Amino acid sequence: MEKSVFDEIGFSQFREQLHREIQELYLENERPWVIGYSGGKDSTAVVQLIWQALALLPPDKRNHKKVHVITTDTLVENPVVVTWVEHSLTLMRERADADNMPFESHILRPKTKNSFWVNLIGRGYPAPRAKFRWCTERLKIWPSNEFILDVVSTHGEAILALGTRKAESNIRARVMEYYEKWRARNRLSPHSQISNCLIYTPIEDWTNDDVWLFLMRTQNPWGLENTELLELYKDATEDRECPLIVNLEDSTPSCGSSRFGCWVCTLVARDRSMEAMVANDAGKSWLQPLLDFRSQLTVKNDTKMRDFRRAKGQVQLFHNAPIHGPYLQAQREIFLGQLLRAERRLMAEAPNDYRHLRLISLDELREIRRIWLTEKHEIEDRLPKIYEEATGEKYPEPEHGYYHCFGEDNLDILADVCGEDRLSYEMIRELIDIEWDYRTKLRRAGIYESMENAIKRSYYENEEDALTYTLHLESMKKGVQGTS
Ligand code: SF4
Repeated sequence: MEKSVFDEIGFSQFREQLHREIQELYLENERPWVIGYSGGKDSTAVVQLIWQALALLPPDKRNHKKVHVITTDTLVENPVVVTWVEHSLTLMRERADADNMPFESHILRPKTKNSFWVNLIGRGYPAPRAKFRWCTERLKIWPSNEFILDVVSTHGEAILALGTRKAESNIRARVMEYYEKWRARNRLSPHSQISNCLIYTPIEDWTNDDVWLFLMRTQNPWGLENTELLELYKDATEDRECPLIVNLEDSTPSCGSSRFGCWVCTLVARDRSMEAMVANDAGKSWLQPLLDFRSQLTVKNDTKMRDFRRAKGQVQLFHNAPIHGPYLQAQREIFLGQLLRAERRLMAEAPNDYRHLRLISLDELREIRRIWLTEKHEIEDRLPKIYEEATGEKYPEPEHGYYHCFGEDNLDILADVCGEDRLSYEMIRELIDIEWDYRTKLRRAGIYESMENAIKRSYYENEEDALTYTLHLESMKKGVQGTS
């Protein structure tokens, strides 16, 4: 059995000691505090500990600086969890006002251009995997680091309190121990990326049971029922929390294997926590459409769904086979339709408290449409039609400033002429679009380069032809190197 931190001096004395440590650190200087809060048990324990410690100070002392509580909403959070966290933050805000506490809560979200759907459906990034984990930085690290950097640049420095614990995983323990070398004092380490920011980890040595014991034995100061939090965790097959992640190296292999990760996470084979919610609670069966959608992202061999060329059009080989790039246009369109249909099912079947939730926002749809039209030259402008087919409603911004000389009829003719030859269709479509794009420009510098790139991208007959050509080029290169 793991050794409890409370064993030596007992629960009450240990807690008092920690309260004193927090108070001293807090009163020591003007550095603002930021607490990473995900709504999970570890970060709840940290906010609760700090709140309790500061409440014991006289009002003038406890209010000499702000304590920012930050939560990152990846926009693909489990709807039950995101609603729970929002509820907790509302209570926190109300209680801090009523009790004159220095806490201020903030929900941080990724920029639209960095959102999960804009990258997956818009740009065609393949579902995240260990070797291409593009999501954590965009959805979690960048929004929180931007906030912390802003606090540091305004105040010169900051302290970031986190609920990370060594008992969470071996990787976590190793990284925490590594940074201990540079510690100014106990539980206070330098931030690996942001200078002038120190990371405070008051529960770093606590076991899982210690956290629950603390949450069950002390009252939540902002009025949240910790027993409800326990309910949320109940039946979870993996009892790990997705904490506020400040850099990739100290994150767990996936931050999605917990109640508090993204519902789309494909770094874990199955979303056991959501499966458990659906299986164990009849009242949560409305989450099934999310599980159904997620299963489309986890198909083992997805090469048929993806372009044989990389994002910029080059063919890259690994063991004499192409490394596949972004999802194909048809696949991205399928994903969008499925996602919108899942959203409609959710809106129809979810209890009233959750019906307002949307899986994808209009801002994201707008950005996806822009990428498809202007970066990928998919001038068929399919997004409004997909939206209408999936939802039965008119797309809210049908025109939105896009007009193309080549309408649907012309593109149908082009498709007919090209027949099975998809690459020629794409190349001609792109050439037409480049010319259309340059029509109003005074200087046409760069047009030949753009056209040449479009031709280079698509001048193969098919994947096989591209592979033969690239292998030929590689063997020529090797021959040249061998003779030089
Ligand atoms: S939970 Fe999964 S999808 Fe979400 S940021 Fe973490 S690794 Fe990426």
